[in-house]
Amino acid sequence: MSEFDLIARIRARFPSPAAPELGIGDDGALLAPRPGHLLAVSTDSLLAGVHFRPDDPPADIGHKAAAVNLSDLAAMAAEPAACLLALSLPGADTGWLDGFLDGLGGLARRHGMALVGGDTTRGPLAVTLTVLGWVPPGQALRRDAARPGDEVWVTGTLGDAAAALALGEAAEPWLLARLRRPEPRCAAGLALRGLAHAAIDLSDGLLGDLGHVLAASGCGADLELADLPASPALCAAVPEAETRWRYQLCGGDDYELAFTAPPERREAVSAALAAQGVAATRIGRIDLRPGLRLYRPDGRLWPPPARAWQHFADPP
Ligand code: ADP
Ligand code: MG
Repeated sequence: MSEFDLIARIRARFPSPAAPELGIGDDGALLAPRPGHLLAVSTDSLLAGVHFRPDDPPADIGHKAAAVNLSDLAAMAAEPAACLLALSLPGADTGWLDGFLDGLGGLARRHGMALVGGDTTRGPLAVTLTVLGWVPPGQALRRDAARPGDEVWVTGTLGDAAAALALGEAAEPWLLARLRRPEPRCAAGLALRGLAHAAIDLSDGLLGDLGHVLAASGCGADLELADLPASPALCAAVPEAETRWRYQLCGGDDYELAFTAPPERREAVSAALAAQGVAATRIGRIDLRPGLRLYRPDGRLWPPPARAWQHFADPP
C-alpha cells in the first residue's frame, strides 16, 4: 500500500465540503471565509512515546488528537470549521489507520469539523493536527484579558486524567476514559463569549496553565484549594487531600477550561454553562499582586508544588 493508497483511504472517509469549497485531493484546500469573522488557527502534535504509547488503541489516539486541538479552539471561543492532518506512520497499517480515523472522525464530526487536507509520510509514529475555527472580532477569549477583581473559574473536574495515568489499568473505567477520551469544552467556550474575560484550556495542569494567563495579563491570583472541583472517582481513588491537590494542580490532560469573569456576571456565567450541560466552579480571584497563592481550608498558605509539565524542562 502506497502513500497515495493511504490518502485515498482517508479521503474516502472525509468527503469534500460543499462546492465551491474543496477538501482532500488537490494541491490545497479551498475554504470560504465566514464574513465578519476572524480565523482562529491552532496546531498540536502527539508523538508516540511522549504523548501516547505506540500500542494504545488507535481510536483513542485519533480521538485525543482531535480533542486536544478542539480544546484550543474552545479556549479561544472559536467555532470549529476544518482541520489538516499531518501523519507520520512507520508502515502502511490500514487496520491502525482505520481505527485512528474512527476516533478522529467521530469527534470531528460531532463538532462540525471537516478534514480538508494534510500530509502523509513514513517515519516514527506521530500525529499533527491543525485546526481552523471562526470567531467574531473582539469575542475571542485571550490569555491576556484577566483583570484584578475577576473571579477564576474552571469547568468540570480536575486531576482525573493525572490520577488515571498514575494508577494505570488499576484506575476505574470513568477515570481512564477521562485520560483516553477527553471531551473538549467547545460548547462552553462559545457560551462564554461576551461573559468571560480570559480563558485557557488545561493541558499541562492548572498551576502552569493559569500561570500563563497571569503572566500574560500582568496580575496574580488567590485560589482556595478546598474549592478545586474533584470528581467522586478521584476522591475515591485518592482520598488524601494534599495528594489530590497535587493531581489537580500539576496533572496534565484535563482539557477543561480555566477562565476569569467579573463577579457581577457570576449568575450569567453559571446559567450560560448550565444551558450547555457544563458544570463550572469558582476557585479564586484575580489580584493585582503577581504570583499564584494557594490557600488551605484552614486559611494557611500552601506552598505551590513542583511546576506543571514542561517539555525541555529537564536535561535528557
Ligand atoms: P502534495 O504533493 O501536493 O503535498 P500530497 O500527495 O501530499 O500532495 O497530498 C495529496 C492530497 O491529499 C492533498 O489534498 C493533501 O492535503 C491530502 N492529504 C495528504 N495526506 C493527508 C492526510 N494524512 N490527511 C488528510 N489529507 C491528506
Ligand atoms: Mg504532501
